[in-house]
Amino acid sequence: MPPIEKSIINLAKNILSEYSLCDWCLGRQFPSIKEENNEVKGKTIKKEVKMKVKEEPCFICQDTMQSIKDISVKVLEQLKDFDFNDFLIGAKLPKDFIEKEDIIRAKFKLRGGETIKGEITREIGKTIATRTNRKVNFYKPDMMILVDFISGKIYLNPRSLSIYGRYLKTIRGLPQKRRKCRKCKGKGCSECEYTGFSKEKSVEQILAQALIKKFDAKDAKFTWVGGESTESLVLGNGRPFYAELIGPKLRHIDESELLKEDNGIILKEVKIIDEKPKKIPTFKVKVAAHVKFDGEVNEEKLNSLKERLQNSEVRIIQLKKKPLIKKIYDFNVERINERVIKITFKCDGGLNIKSFISGSNRGMKKDLLEITPNVSEIMGVKASCDIFDILDVEV
Ligand SMILES: [Zn+2]
Ligand SMILES: [Zn+2]
Repeated sequence: MPPIEKSIINLAKNILSEYSLCDWCLGRQFPSIKEENNEVKGKTIKKEVKMKVKEEPCFICQDTMQSIKDISVKVLEQLKDFDFNDFLIGAKLPKDFIEKEDIIRAKFKLRGGETIKGEITREIGKTIATRTNRKVNFYKPDMMILVDFISGKIYLNPRSLSIYGRYLKTIRGLPQKRRKCRKCKGKGCSECEYTGFSKEKSVEQILAQALIKKFDAKDAKFTWVGGESTESLVLGNGRPFYAELIGPKLRHIDESELLKEDNGIILKEVKIIDEKPKKIPTFKVKVAAHVKFDGEVNEEKLNSLKERLQNSEVRIIQLKKKPLIKKIYDFNVERINERVIKITFKCDGGLNIKSFISGSNRGMKKDLLEITPNVSEIMGVKASCDIFDILDVEV
């Protein structure tokens, strides 16, 4: 190491005759000296200064800097249970650390040095990076580590994980979405174990449970690509969905251990994605529906139904909005008896199947007024649908 300039020695002497500073906090004030770290730098300066320094706690950090090695060890211990490729350290310091450092810098005209906060996060980060072989990422770290020097606590916040998946539903009777807890209406109470959700089985509840377990997460939030009714099956390649897993400890998937089957729900595909798309992709659904008529329907009428709806457009008329157009493709009719038929078709996502058949806006969202043409209207006989199944969903 080249000898330290006389002017620096004199400046250090002046500072130390007034303030007690630890090796770290002294070293940090002299960015022009190159050393392994500020602790080594501070020691070297103190040796050169050749004066008896005050035996008091450090004026700036109250000797906190000496504890950062121990804190790094504690952070490493807590990180053991988590998957992460990169991380970022944050620190919460008592306000007077920064104020006291500013006082000294102003008084002795010290410039260009790193702040105490910068040094703490950089030093802890260095230790974590070396020991875990993971990198610091300032932009989108998998793991955000906050060291609170006021409370002495360490907080680990894994970034939420975005998932794309598909599910099959092979048994009738499960609603798609979790219902809110009846008692607390979603606020959280002892009845629902403070989840805000009813414990009744649903596709969402089963998928959430499986995904939370798989990624050791705290919660899962879903975005659906369309929906089906409680009585519908979902077949083919299944219905796609997006999920955001909150606080996951794990961030990888072993494809061999997807959800086997729980109450007829099968998790067919799961993929970790960068982030959920801003807009849900457009999709088409292949549907099979049982249609019941109030009167007998003859062959001629069935043929005209097929002709009318084959590759046709259906208008959804909404309150105070432009009508939506949904296309119908591959429309087919199969007779079951005089009053019952089975129809299969493909249509653009977002068409309410039961209303498309009955023509009634019962069960539709409040702002939907009419779907036209509809099966009742074309046949001139009132039609209804209790059960329809989703044969496939194409994205
Ligand atoms: Zn200090
Ligand atoms: Zn509740």
